[in-house]
Amino acid sequence: MVTYRNKELFVENVSFKTLASTYGTPCYIYSKKYLVEQFSDYKNAFKGYPQTIICYSVKANSNLSILKVFKEMGSGFDIVSGGELERVIAIGANPKKVVFSGVAKSNEEVKKAIEFGILFFNVESFDELEVINKIAKKTRHVAEISIRVNPDINPKTHPYISTGLKSSKFGIPIRQSFEIYREAKKMKNIKLIGIDAHIGSQILDLDPFEDSLERLENLYFKLKDENINIDFIDIGGGLGIKYKDEDRPPSKKKFAQKIIKRMKRINCKLLLEPGRSLVGNSGYLLTAVVYKKNNYKKNFLIIDAGMNDLLRPALYGSYHKISKVIRSHKDEKIYDVVGPICETGDVIAKNLSMNDVKLGDILVIHSAGAYGATMSSNYNTRPKIPEILVSGNKTFLIRKKETISQILENEVII
Ligand SMILES: *Cc1c(COP(=O)(O)O)cnc(C)c1O
Repeated sequence: MVTYRNKELFVENVSFKTLASTYGTPCYIYSKKYLVEQFSDYKNAFKGYPQTIICYSVKANSNLSILKVFKEMGSGFDIVSGGELERVIAIGANPKKVVFSGVAKSNEEVKKAIEFGILFFNVESFDELEVINKIAKKTRHVAEISIRVNPDINPKTHPYISTGLKSSKFGIPIRQSFEIYREAKKMKNIKLIGIDAHIGSQILDLDPFEDSLERLENLYFKLKDENINIDFIDIGGGLGIKYKDEDRPPSKKKFAQKIIKRMKRINCKLLLEPGRSLVGNSGYLLTAVVYKKNNYKKNFLIIDAGMNDLLRPALYGSYHKISKVIRSHKDEKIYDVVGPICETGDVIAKNLSMNDVKLGDILVIHSAGAYGATMSSNYNTRPKIPEILVSGNKTFLIRKKETISQILENEVII
C-alpha cells in the first residue's frame, strides 16, 4: 500500500511528508483502499458459504469513520462494551448484525443492547446468563444468546493474546458448556441461537482454527441430539497479519476454504469477528525524530510518538517495521528507537538498522492500524493524537488532536 516515488514514501497518492506538514506529528494515517480491499477479500473468500455474516471487531480500531467504511460494505460489528455499542449506534449500524462479547457486561450495558435489539450476546459465564435473563424479563424481551465456549486450543501466538486456553478467563469450558445450554433452555427470556469461540489473535497457522471448529461441531451435534437447535456458529476473529517481512499469514481464501469445508457439514449460519486482519496493515504511525543521542555503545533515536500512542511494543514486545519518509543512501547505523515517555519500556524498536537519520526526519511505523489508537492513553498527560484517512489523493481528518484542556476537564481540584 505504500511505495517510494523517487525518494519519497507515499500512501495511496499522498506523500507522508505532506501529511506530516499538514497534520503535524505524531498522527495515525489509514488507507481507505486497504480497508476496502481487506473487507472485499473476506467477502469473496466466503462467497461459497452465503450464510456468512462478517462482524468487524470494533476494538481493533473503533474510529467512527472506519466503522462507517465497513458498514457501507455490509459489515456487522462485534462489540465488547457499552461504549462500543454507542459507536455502532452512532454510525447507524443494523442491530441485527451486532454481537456483544466480553466477560464483564454490566446490567446497564445488557439493558442498552437488548433495547437496541442486537443479534445476540456471546455469554461468557453462568452468572451473566442469569443477569441477561433477568433484564430481558424486566424489559419484556427475549434475549438471543450464544455461549462462548473455551475449546482449550493453543493458537501458538503470544500468551497475552491467547484466549482459548484452559487457563484463560474467557468463555465457558467446552465440557461444562453442555450443562449451561441445558440450563439456558429452561430460562423463559433467553433464546439459544449460537455457539461461539474466539481462541486468540495474530494466529499465523490454520490448524488451531480447524481444531476449534471441530470441537464446536461436536458440541453442535451433541446439542442437536438434545433437541437444542443452534442457528449460528461464531468462530471469532484472530487471523494474523504480516508484521515482519518473514511473516507468512494464511490468505483469507485459504482460511475460508478450511472453514467452509466443515461448515457445509454443519450447515448453519456462520459468523466471523475479524479485527486485526481487516485494519492492521491499513494504518501507519507517522512520527518525527526529536533528538539523537549516544550512550556508551547505543545510538538512540528519540521520536515524538511513545508507548502512550502505540502500546504494542511495550506490552507484547511486538515488532513494527519502520521506514524513513525520505529515503537516503547514507551509512547504515543501528538504533534503538525510543519514545518520550518516562519509562524504560518505552521502546518502539530495538537494534533497528537504518540509514543515517537527522533531527526532524520523519519516520513511518508500519502495521499500526489495529490495537494502536484504540489502546492509546494519556500517560504523561499527552493528548491523543489525530487520525487521518487517506483515499486516493484526498485526506480526511477523522479524529482531531485532543487538547490538554480536554484531558484536564474532568478533574476536580479540592
Ligand atoms: C479481539 C476480539 C476479536 C478480534 O480479534 P482479531 O485478532 O483482531 O481478529 C474477535 N472476537 C472477540 C471476542 C475479541 O475479543
